[in-house]
Amino acid sequence: MAQSAPDTARKYDLGFARWVYENVEGGDKLSMCMQCGVCSGSCPIGTEMDHGPRKLFMMIRAGMKEAVLTSNTLWNCTKCYRCVVRCPRGVPVTYILGGLGTKAVEMGYVKTEDTVRFSKAFWWSAKTFGRTDERLVTSRYHFSGGFGEGVKKSLANLKIALGMFKAGRLHLGAPHKVKGTKNLQAILAKAQEIEERAGETER
Ligand code: SF4
Ligand code: SF4
Repeated sequence: MAQSAPDTARKYDLGFARWVYENVEGGDKLSMCMQCGVCSGSCPIGTEMDHGPRKLFMMIRAGMKEAVLTSNTLWNCTKCYRCVVRCPRGVPVTYILGGLGTKAVEMGYVKTEDTVRFSKAFWWSAKTFGRTDERLVTSRYHFSGGFGEGVKKSLANLKIALGMFKAGRLHLGAPHKVKGTKNLQAILAKAQEIEERAGETER
């Protein structure tokens, strides 16, 4: 099924559960959920989520598309897999949360979330240099929210940066690179092409 643009005017979308079933990794197992709450009760980060996994799955069934796709649960999950191990019905909770996060970004529901901005900065460094350069990832992430926010965040972290430098954990100079970054980029471009082709076939 083709992805539709976010419909912010509608609070409930009765086709949402079906859409999750067809488009989200692990979504086809969601119907196995019996709402026991073991996942939410086991989650070490549950207090930092606006909705625990059990409630989020109930919201999917209720068609609360916008509330689900804008939930911070998708970003605060640490992927510890405790819920997956404990779920009595074998629901791949972690995969579903991750898959929903990916769709939320693709569909434009998430633009300013800190975790997304950090992930983008991290991926940029990994793709460009074949490694993560702490200084560049941090600066890119800090300034991705605007110049003012970048300066504020950088100053707030200055003490930590100096401490890392003194301890030899932060180097100055050109970023470290893996050998053959061009080959790496060609591999990644090919992987992306294959994934996009697979996505088109599925639709
Ligand atoms: S532990 Fe499994 S069955 Fe129970 S609420 Fe969570 S996902 Fe549903
Ligand atoms: S994988 Fe995510 S949702 Fe599951 S217990 Fe860990 S933090 Fe909570």
